[in-house]
Amino acid sequence: MSRIAYVNGRYVRHAEAAVHVEDRGYQFADGVYEVCEIRDGFLTDERRHIDRLIRSLAELRIRMPMSRAALGVVLREVVRRNHVRDGLVYLQITRGVAPRNHPFPSPETEPALVVTAKSVPRSVHDHSAETGIAVITLPDNRWDRVDIKTVGLLPNVLAKQAARDAGVYEAWLYDADGNVTEGSSTNAWIVTADGTLVTRPAEHGILRGITRTVLMEVAARLGVKVEERKFSVEEAKRAREAFITGATTIVTPVVKIDDQVIGNGAPGSVATALRKAFHDSAERAPRWSHG
Ligand code: PMP
Repeated sequence: MSRIAYVNGRYVRHAEAAVHVEDRGYQFADGVYEVCEIRDGFLTDERRHIDRLIRSLAELRIRMPMSRAALGVVLREVVRRNHVRDGLVYLQITRGVAPRNHPFPSPETEPALVVTAKSVPRSVHDHSAETGIAVITLPDNRWDRVDIKTVGLLPNVLAKQAARDAGVYEAWLYDADGNVTEGSSTNAWIVTADGTLVTRPAEHGILRGITRTVLMEVAARLGVKVEERKFSVEEAKRAREAFITGATTIVTPVVKIDDQVIGNGAPGSVATALRKAFHDSAERAPRWSHG
């Protein structure tokens, strides 16, 4: 079965899906994206992902290429055509195709929309959640608008590769004061000795993860206290538990930070309980309505 991608109004074979050489996403990373989990064929938290997409677009003054309802139809159609039951759907909107020149092109330039979907067996992430993952720490050298979900991810790519080179899953980035900002593609959390969840406030220093937002509700429901405050790499290394959140990893326990084993080196009970409860709080968008 061949994979299908949506590219600027057409459903095409994934292997042949292509954009123009002067797409501003390709030349300037002038675009934004979203990744949404697909679970049992349903999109998880679609409404919040599209809300964040609209915000990212507005911050960069890129037009929505179609209505929200139409975008919902395209997302579902790509999921359906690829027969994805568990996995993820990726969407990217760039400022479109125009002769290479730094200023915005003429307002008539059509934003470009690409959507792909892929199957990821649940067992992949369930396995890392059962064993726990290790992270390394690196200085955060990104720009100061990482609250916008742009495709300009080179520092994130380099950090993730450094993690892979070190044989671990993720890199936690820290600011000039030694406080953790977030992971290269996930938000970072710790659990203090008294069982409080701590994560950095979602100002401009991190991406406001949808999983992060939903997890706040999960915690409230389970009666777990949450503190939005900065925490240092040192505090994280002394924490009772640590974990990451993201649309693909949901809640995944961290059992080692650099050379420091966290807790007893096994996934903690708080992170494990939050992971288990997550999908009871997440929104499951209807399969064929326009969400
Ligand atoms: N931070 C960064 C830098 C990310 O790339 C992501 C995933 N896109 C996240 C956090 C987690 O966000 P979400 O929960 O919306 O997937």
